[in-house]
Amino acid sequence: MERVGVGAIRSQAVKRRETATLATLLLRISAALIRTPHHRLGGAIDGAIAEVGDALGADRALVARREPDGIVQHHLWEHGRRNGSAGPVSSDLLPSILGRLEGGRTLVWESRDEFPLTAWRLESLTEQLESGIVVPLQVGGTRGGMLAVIARAPRPWSADAVEAAERLAEMVAAALDRIANQSAVTREQEGRRSAEAESRVLREHLAHAGRVSMLGELAASLAHELNQPLTAIYTNVQAAERFLDRKRPALGEALGALHDLGQDCRRAGEVLGRLRQMFRRHETERVPLAVGPLIEHVLRLLYEDAVGRGVDVVLDVPRDLPLVNGDRVQLEQVVMNLLVNAFDAVMGMDRPREVTLRAAATDGFLGLSILDTGPGIPPNDLDRIFEPFFTRKPNGMGMGLSICRTIIEAHGGRIGARNGRERGSVFELSLPAVKSQ
Ligand code: ADP
Repeated sequence: MERVGVGAIRSQAVKRRETATLATLLLRISAALIRTPHHRLGGAIDGAIAEVGDALGADRALVARREPDGIVQHHLWEHGRRNGSAGPVSSDLLPSILGRLEGGRTLVWESRDEFPLTAWRLESLTEQLESGIVVPLQVGGTRGGMLAVIARAPRPWSADAVEAAERLAEMVAAALDRIANQSAVTREQEGRRSAEAESRVLREHLAHAGRVSMLGELAASLAHELNQPLTAIYTNVQAAERFLDRKRPALGEALGALHDLGQDCRRAGEVLGRLRQMFRRHETERVPLAVGPLIEHVLRLLYEDAVGRGVDVVLDVPRDLPLVNGDRVQLEQVVMNLLVNAFDAVMGMDRPREVTLRAAATDGFLGLSILDTGPGIPPNDLDRIFEPFFTRKPNGMGMGLSICRTIIEAHGGRIGARNGRERGSVFELSLPAVKSQ
């Protein structure tokens, strides 16, 4: 059996890690926000501003918006304190800063002296807002909000810091949009339900509830599957911008990022295409597939993720494996979900953070196992982790493994999990091999 280490991943890692810390943090936050169900988004925004505020060495980070009854601080983080809750803003400073933002441009000040108005300077003294970055927030197409990162001492803010605050503001705005849309939908549903209650019999209600929960599951699974390509698209756009935004643009590298971008878009399109197919009740695709290239493709998509998290991926995949009949995108999704879970599992651990992907042929089946050096799975959870919406992660959706099981069983295979003999967990799946003629 040939053992293929992903040496390229390791050697390039060192070079990139230096510049990638903030970008990686933002990427992780973006992925977490996309994955977070709307009812937990408030907490996720609290966590996001705290992490970025901390990474930028700020003392305070907040999200505030103009509401009918004044400016309301929706999210507040203060260094060394638990996140504060929403509340009206007592200071006069933030409303006037908000006024300044109407032009839609980020405001950066390095010391109180740069404040355009004396009144601001005085206020900043009592408020201890010596320096900061304030980015306008546009939610639901309307301006009138801001994300602020503030320090108590005068200090310069690097271009990276300003860019990070702006990226964070974009993500927070998208999350606030989602929350707003969801409450509009809920209000509409509630109104409709109370009208129906008078005229419909109980059974009709139950049927409706069933449909709604099925749609909810479908939406959750769609959000989950689109998360990966969207995250990859975001990374590649950033990379392309970085390569081009130089005195001497690195055209070759930018082209590479654009090529990957095309692949990511194709992948997102395939996910949606499959959904359309499902509605048309077509069969899913079944073609003979070689798992080697399939695994390679998934690893390319997860490259940044592995590097950013300092995870070593070890492949133990022989070349002469039998083919399997299947839907390439669906099976890629399975491998990807299992790898991302393994990355999540090793993240909290000291090194080695190692994830091993092993493939082998046995008795007419192709077996794949993913082993990690994470904390393993509590015995009581082993039966439940494949259930929809079971999650132990603060920002988890609990759909990944349930989607994996659905896909593998639809392919005539099996999937299970156990703890490793020495450490970590092992996810194993087997698929019927295509008989060779
Ligand atoms: P999510 O990742 O959103 O939580 P999943 O269905 O993919 O949803 O996983 C469900 C749960 O299974 C996780 O929250 C975690 O508790 C557990 N789990 C999955 N993979 C691993 C792993 N490699 N090591 C330890 N626990 C895991």
